[in-house]
Amino acid sequence: MVNITKRSVNTYKILSVISDNPAFLFGEFKESRIKHGMSTARFEKCFKCNHRFTNDEPVYFACVSQKGNVFFCKDCADECSKEIRKAPTD
Ligand SMILES: [Zn+2]
Repeated sequence: MVNITKRSVNTYKILSVISDNPAFLFGEFKESRIKHGMSTARFEKCFKCNHRFTNDEPVYFACVSQKGNVFFCKDCADECSKEIRKAPTD
């Protein structure tokens, strides 16, 4: 068997991030998604640093290009909102 491994690198532009207020506790979010029969797979980790959320951890909304709404951990939400404020909008 011959395998080809391809690794793709995507760049997502952070459009907005809300770092002042957590959107949910992750456990609450997960419960309501499961209740509605929806998958939580793409929300289980911080979109930026891949930190895996625990149920009692607050998660922060961000919006990125190509994906739409994603969750950030507190550290990434703080860091990105600072950078967004610094960076000129284009
Ligand atoms: Zn993070």
